[in-house]
Amino acid sequence: MAVPKRRMSRSNTRSRRSQFKAAPITLSVCANPACRAKHPSHTVCPECGQYGEKDKMRQVIEVEV
Ligand SMILES: [Zn+2]
Repeated sequence: MAVPKRRMSRSNTRSRRSQFKAAPITLSVCANPACRAKHPSHTVCPECGQYGEKDKMRQVIEVEV
């Protein structure tokens, strides 16, 4: 495993970390043709309660009205 030869200065560490920032989450469009709502990928759609790929959508949770 590669190991750093020299300790990185506090200044260098802090200037690198100053670039760390939160990125907005990317939303995917629901594959349910009747829904098409935007939701985070790899999650159950909160609008219709379905999950899966196109043509493989299945009802995972029941959505309360
Ligand atoms: Zn949906």
